This record gives sequence, structure tokens and C-alpha cells, in this order.
Amino acid sequence: MRYNPAALAMLSVTEARERILSRFQATAEESIPLIECANRVLAVDIAAAHDLPLFDNSSMDGFALRSVDSRSAAAASPLTLSVVADIPAGSAPRVTLAQGEAARIMTGAQIPEGADAVIPVEDTDFHSRDAGTAAPQAISFTRKVNVGENISLRGADLRAGDVVLQKGRKLKPQDLGLLAMLGIANVAVHKKPRIALLSSGDELLEVDAPLTAGKIHDSNSYSLAALIQNTGADVLRLGVAKDTRESVESLLQKAIHENVDLIVASAGVSVGAFDFVKDVIESNGRLDFWRVNMRPGKPLAFGEYRDMPFIGLPGNPVSAFVGFEIFVHPVLEKLSGQLDGNRLTVKVRCEEVIESDGRESYLRAKIRNENGITIATLTGHQGSGNLLSLVQADALLIIPAGVKCLPVGQEVDAILL
Ligand code: AMP
Ligand code: MG
Repeated sequence: MRYNPAALAMLSVTEARERILSRFQATAEESIPLIECANRVLAVDIAAAHDLPLFDNSSMDGFALRSVDSRSAAAASPLTLSVVADIPAGSAPRVTLAQGEAARIMTGAQIPEGADAVIPVEDTDFHSRDAGTAAPQAISFTRKVNVGENISLRGADLRAGDVVLQKGRKLKPQDLGLLAMLGIANVAVHKKPRIALLSSGDELLEVDAPLTAGKIHDSNSYSLAALIQNTGADVLRLGVAKDTRESVESLLQKAIHENVDLIVASAGVSVGAFDFVKDVIESNGRLDFWRVNMRPGKPLAFGEYRDMPFIGLPGNPVSAFVGFEIFVHPVLEKLSGQLDGNRLTVKVRCEEVIESDGRESYLRAKIRNENGITIATLTGHQGSGNLLSLVQADALLIIPAGVKCLPVGQEVDAILL
């Protein structure tokens, strides 16, 4: 299909992103060992199979007792209880406390029948906490102990049946801990998205090749590969295609063999005489659109290469990065199964006058906090090849479409990098 009318129109950033996102769905699920689950995305809701804590337990090293027994304890009249048991963590208590009795108990150990409070060892006359010290015959103390003191009750944290982690959540380290508490050894998560990455251009050399006249190193495949991996996806680096149809096609063919979820390319999607990538997509698949009304990065192609989704980013290093953040990043979140994909922005105030050309613009800025206000300063000239300005930035300021000039102090949204 050569002349797709939609491909001629210039889309807004939002329209383009929606068109792209609608083409994708989450990857299939797989069950993997818990230890491999960090940063993977849950494919199911997780409900607790049992209460947490699972049994009433002591939150201190001390003595379990019946709180009623302690009512008369005071500085002038110490109370003495006989110690009838010793309950280390991990053991099941075998006693039931009767009036006047206590049991030595360690943090995390199960509270014995009859007890309803724990007095910490520091509050008794038995201060010695050296490892290996045998339990005393009796303890004395000089204060009243309240019902429930220093006891973590069964079910206080969560109840059996509670949904504790929801489908679509990217698992954090603390989530893995909770899953372990619940005895979940294998977890249903979405498969890692697999992304093929292509650079293109006769001027590009591998990073270890000596530079010769007119050549530059391929830098996009490094920054883009890292961006892909940071989202938790796997990257298949296809290498650098020459500016010929044959070269582009033969490298793209590798992506087909590997059956990836998405091909991401940079360069070759503009209107130059050697921009063959766009051409190859049009003649071997479908080009949905190839321009977006934004700066940097107007040439942004979306379509399919032999039924495989394809996103062509601009070649300039800053444009490629911004295009990735705005269009590819949300796709990778959706592929990964994440349901809470909305990117957080912060409000910042510009420290200088900002000129724009009316396209939705993403400007590199450094931000700092002054008396509770976040202030943004541009990091040098905004040329789309000036990668150092991106390196020095910690945010992308979003200048809305239609805006030509913003005064000093104007508040704008920013994406944190
Ligand atoms: P193009 O889209 O092919 O016109 O490329 C636009 C600009 O980006 C040119 O200056 C290219 O040399 C540069 N460029 C393209 N691909 C890369 C890359 N992988 N790494 C660094 N610069 C690139
Ligand atoms: Mg080129």
C-alpha cells in the first residue's frame, strides 16, 4: 500500500501515541520462580492464602504474662511471677499460663495460651540478654502491663483472601518479600517484551572503529538499548544498516526470524534521498504515519514490517531519545502488562524566556529546588544532535502546541529523566 492518506496528515503527539498504543496488547503470561520476579509484571491478582501474622506473636524479647496479674505492680510494690516456660522463635508453646505465671519469649515467637501481653526484658529485673543465658526461675517488675502490649495479633496485617497485589503491577523488591511471606514460590507474570533495535546510515561506525572522514559512531543503539532494558524488556541489537534497501531489509529479516514484539529503528524515516527505512516499510508492510507535530523529532514513523509492529525514530540522538520516551516507552509498558502506565509529570517554573515554534516541544532542562519551588534552566542549545545537553538535563519541559513564547517564571509540566 503506497499512498495511505492518513500517512500524509501530521498528527499531534497525543493522537500519534494513541494510534500506536491501540496496536499493542500485553505479552502472554508465564510462571517463573519468585527470585526472578523483580521488575516483572503480575499477570494475575494475588490473594493471601492465610492471615499475616499467621499467629499471635511477641514483638519484643521479654516475658509473656496475663495482664490481670500485673494490676498491683508499682514502684513501691514489685510483682513477682514464676517463669514456667521458655519460648524461642520458631517453636510452638506447649504451656497454658495460669495465675502468677510467665513464660520467657523471644521476638516473633508464638504467644502461649493464657497470656495476653508481653513485658519487655528491659522492664524486668532480668536484664541479662546475653545469648545462651538460661531463663530465670522468676521475674519481678514494677509496672502494670496492658492487655495486648507487645503482641502482634494474628491477621493484624492482612487476612486470608485479601487481594494484596494486583494484576498489572510491576513487582518491587518489597512485593517479592510479601509473596515469600505468603509462600508463593512461582508467580504468573507477563513474558518480557523482546524488542529489535536497528540503526541506519552509511555514516555510522561501530563504537570501537577508528573514525574516518565523514563518519561518526553509532550512538543511538547504545542509548536506546539502555532505555529498552531499563523498562525491563530484552533487546536484540540488529546492528547498523547501510543506506540501501537491501541492507535495511536483510537486517529487518533477523527481527522476523526472532519473532520479536516490536522493531525500533532510528534514522532513515525522513525525506532525504537516502532515507530507505521508510521506503522499505511502505513496500514490505504498512506505513500508518511518519510525521508528528513535535520538536525535536518530527519524522516519527509507525507501521508494520511484514506484520511486525515498527516504530521508526528520528536519527538525531536527542530526537531519538525523546521519541523513545514519548512513544516507545508507553508501548513497552503496555506490552509488559503494566496497567498503571501513566507517566508522572511535575510542575516547574522556567528561569528564562522560552521561545518555541508552535509545535509541542520537549526541552532539556536542569531543575533545582528553591524555597519549595522547582526551577528549570535549559541546558545549552536545543539542537537535536546536542546529546551533552540531554546528559546534563534532569527533565524534559513540555511546551504545549500553539505556544510561541513563555515569560520568565511561567509554570510548565516536565517529565523527570
Ligand atoms: P537521518 O534521519 O538519517 O537523516 O539522520 C539524522 C541525523 O542523525 C544525521 O546527522 C545522522 O548522522 C544522525 N544519526 C542517525 N543515526 C544515528 C545513530 N545511530 N547514532 C548517531 N547519530 C545518528
Ligand atoms: Mg541517514
